[in-house]
Amino acid sequence: MNRETTLKKLRKKSKTWDVVIIGGGATGLGCAVDAASRGYKTLLLEQEDFSKGTSSRSTKLVHGGVRYLQQGDISLVLEALNERGLMFKNAPHLVSNQSFVIPTYDWWGGPFYTIGLKMYDLMAGKLGFGSSKHLSREEAMKALPTVEQEGLRGGVIYQDGQFDDSRMAISLAQTAADYGASVINYCKVTNLIKEGELVSGVVAIDQETDEEFTIKSKTVINATGVFSNEIIKMDEPDGNDIVVPSQGVHLVLSKDFLSSEYAIMVPNTPDGRVMFAVPWHNHVVVGTTDTLMENHSLEPVALDEEIDFLLETAGRYLVKPPTRMDILSVFAGLRPLAKPNEGDKETKEISRGHKIMISVSGLITIIGGKWTTYRKMAEDVIEKAILLGGLPDRECVTKHLPIHGFTMNADPHTDPLASYGIDKEKMLALGEEDKKLSGFLSEKLQIYKSQVTWAVRNEMARTVEDILARRTRALFLDARESLRIAPDVAVIMAKELGKTRRWRLKQLAAYEEVAKNYFME
Ligand SMILES: Cc1cc2nc3c(=O)[nH]c(=O)nc-3n(C[C@H](O)[C@H](O)[C@H](O)COP(=O)(O)OP(=O)(O)OC[C@H]3O[C@@H](n4cnc5c(N)ncnc54)[C@H](O)[C@@H]3O)c2cc1C
Repeated sequence: MNRETTLKKLRKKSKTWDVVIIGGGATGLGCAVDAASRGYKTLLLEQEDFSKGTSSRSTKLVHGGVRYLQQGDISLVLEALNERGLMFKNAPHLVSNQSFVIPTYDWWGGPFYTIGLKMYDLMAGKLGFGSSKHLSREEAMKALPTVEQEGLRGGVIYQDGQFDDSRMAISLAQTAADYGASVINYCKVTNLIKEGELVSGVVAIDQETDEEFTIKSKTVINATGVFSNEIIKMDEPDGNDIVVPSQGVHLVLSKDFLSSEYAIMVPNTPDGRVMFAVPWHNHVVVGTTDTLMENHSLEPVALDEEIDFLLETAGRYLVKPPTRMDILSVFAGLRPLAKPNEGDKETKEISRGHKIMISVSGLITIIGGKWTTYRKMAEDVIEKAILLGGLPDRECVTKHLPIHGFTMNADPHTDPLASYGIDKEKMLALGEEDKKLSGFLSEKLQIYKSQVTWAVRNEMARTVEDILARRTRALFLDARESLRIAPDVAVIMAKELGKTRRWRLKQLAAYEEVAKNYFME
């Protein structure tokens, strides 16, 4: 995870990589871990920061997908439940068990969901997270003291997983680097290079210095999510669009709105979607929506109607209906959905399974999928790369590969620093070595000053936003509090990176511009 070392490698014109991956979200990082752990010369290029795209904006669930079961997508649920179990085994410092309650208000809801969730339990097999159970009205009220009690008949409790998406992304980048991959952020692919008709590498530009690199590779993987169409066009200028963005919005509220360790799952909102209210880092995350968008962006903005929908729906299930003033942070993410044909299904019905496409020139593109299935997606992609690039055939080893920081002694439910795993003590020790780094940056959000220096030294953090949005989750938990601590972050970073006052001011202005879309005026 050293940017300078990777830049030096990129300057070596004679070097040919086995695998070059474009995109540092869940999909690309998974591919980097898979390829590097099989021993291939692997390079990952991310145009901004790791998980800056969709992969830091999920509902934070590691799940089989109860909704996909409802839709009858059995193979996707089976695959996701298996991956959920593997993710928990390989990264117990990042993934934890979360109990969900479905409150039921109809006579048929209890038996219907109890049977469905028993199937869900059975499908998880040996990798199950615990069994589901029917709850009486009293038990449901005890589990969810804030849930609307009028008309409540009971509930069903079931188990799924939860994680911190951007911290998982950083740990994957570190795992790939541990196995010899070169990973770099702020390095954008601007073109593909070809030998004859075949893709033989990429052109990339360091976004910090504008230095350009011509990079040769036996295989090139397009893992750019909602940006996939742009890479496809570099390959085939007249090629058809293959993805459409569908926006999902989340609201973050104070934990008092749930005041329970159980999450709420609403399987059928008035417009036929699923809604979650999930405890996360001492707050509650409510989401999500599914809005087909015309355009994509790295900073999608929640629409007013999406916020209203979530407030209104959440209000039906919480005794105290949240208002705009209660929103501590609102974030939007874009699902890279396979483009439906004219007259096809609605976005909420498009399968969340993944799809791998190989162009005539040999460019491998992967779209769709879920965070939960990132490992299997990567395995499938690298299998294709082996064939296309004529790479020596080596078995995938990620099923039982511990993710960087692995330890069984960290509980993400109770410890806000659990995601650092075995690195936690080393990170905190920075505060003991240097008094300026001791103590909290934000006591409210339990963020320490030493996390900033650690992230610059070990996690390739380059900007104030990297720290506040993805190395810590300040922006996603409480946007105003993140703005309050931004100047302190800039000071610590400037010292570590040897930057000037001008850099600090520019960073703060850029951060304010991003953060203003995360809170309500
Ligand atoms: C609202 C919402 C909620 C979700 N909740 C869950 C959930 O709870 N659980 C779950 O399992 N899944 C969930 N998902 C799905 C999951 O988040 C996505 O499937 C996953 O994050 C997609 O990752 P990706 O790597 O394909 O895309 P991205 O994370 O978008 O990564 C693509 C990356 O490519 C980079 N890139 C683009 N162009 C270039 C270029 N030219 N050069 C270099 N880099 C480039 C981008 O900057 C970006 O970082 C959710 C999705 C959404 C939208």
